[in-house]
Amino acid sequence: MKRWFRVIIISIFALAAVSLVVIQFIQARRTYSISDNMFNISVTSAMDEVIKEINGEVFQTATHPAATFNYQELDSLIAEELLLVGIDVHPVVGLYDGSQGSFLYTSDPRHEGLLEQSPYRYSFQPIGVISSNQFFIILGFPHSLLPRIDSNLYLYMSVFLVLVIAIMFFISLRTIANQRRLDQMKNEFISNMTHEVKTPISTISLACEMLQDHSVAQDEAARTNFVSIIADENQRMRVLVETILQSSKMSNRNFSLNLTEVNVNALVNKVAQSFRLTLANRNGRLDTILEAEPPTLVADELHLSNLIYNLVDNGIKYSSGAPHIIVHTWREPERFLISVQDHGIGIPKADQKHVFEKFYRVSTGNVHNVKGFGIGLNYVAQVVRLHHGTISLESAPRQGSTFTLAFPA
Ligand code: ADP
Repeated sequence: MKRWFRVIIISIFALAAVSLVVIQFIQARRTYSISDNMFNISVTSAMDEVIKEINGEVFQTATHPAATFNYQELDSLIAEELLLVGIDVHPVVGLYDGSQGSFLYTSDPRHEGLLEQSPYRYSFQPIGVISSNQFFIILGFPHSLLPRIDSNLYLYMSVFLVLVIAIMFFISLRTIANQRRLDQMKNEFISNMTHEVKTPISTISLACEMLQDHSVAQDEAARTNFVSIIADENQRMRVLVETILQSSKMSNRNFSLNLTEVNVNALVNKVAQSFRLTLANRNGRLDTILEAEPPTLVADELHLSNLIYNLVDNGIKYSSGAPHIIVHTWREPERFLISVQDHGIGIPKADQKHVFEKFYRVSTGNVHNVKGFGIGLNYVAQVVRLHHGTISLESAPRQGSTFTLAFPA
């Protein structure tokens, strides 16, 4: 997906989401105001009935409401009438003497302030009360009592839904981007693979041509040299194919190692031998310090050999001048250690924790155009993990890298 296209899609989505929230907000306000009016009308009609009853029958003969009223009856009468119009709450009830400016009664004195402010105020004049005073029944609906839906709730719900949609939207975008990255990686992989295999193929075919030449075939030294070129290149391809195959096999849970007693020092010598030609071509050097005594480790010989091969191969690949590799084996009381050190281009600190990830390659710009797949170190890390070992990396740009593997002995 092109960048400008992504920007347009995200902008349209953001605009639609904001519009949706605004529309929901307006709608919620409208609903709130309608339900508010309905509520007021219902309360007024219920209270009309209450006043009618008070004036007509129940409390008619006294000289003063305070002396006459059975307040509990008044409360339940109001609750009943409210229920009849569909309002199932017990409001705070106050009886207010207009001329004295004071409450004769409040059902809950804590809410007197609310009653004073309340718009639900109904005047009545009990029959038989010899007084010119005006009395009011005042109802108070504390916020917690109201069954009406808070208008903000609609808004919160809309914002929540928009957020859910936004998250899904970004997950989809990320999936598309990941697909694209995978596609790119697949193409790179094919092109790198072809390149890596092409070199040994042409070297082997050249060596074969030379061996077909009679004069070369008669020369014992030349013949041995070409045969070992073929063997080395063959080994290179074998490790390459093996690494790719094993790397995908290892992701499988049922993968198991073929453990035997391996002479690691001898294995290092064998691997070093297979790099003889490559190193000679680049004026390089491989030193071994084989101090592990006894040199045996219970391990999978094939994978351990591929692992050392990969590390040495990387050391050579990522050296800009003449490569100088040191492979060191030694023992500690509980551990068997192998380190592969190079004096090459090194790995920047930020990349060090990623190099063991599958397909990760340090961006080398145009300076070191080294071909690779980004699976070698991932394979190495997997082999080490399956042997219950650890791998550590010390590296500094332009100074080189040291990979140290520690296996439980
Ligand atoms: P690749 O096939 O790219 O070599 P690896 O998994 O072996 O894949 O290595 C991952 C990346 O780590 C490489 O692309 C390279 O950038 C970096 N790297 C690995 N080994 C070394 C090393 N010895 N020196 C410098 N960089 C290295």
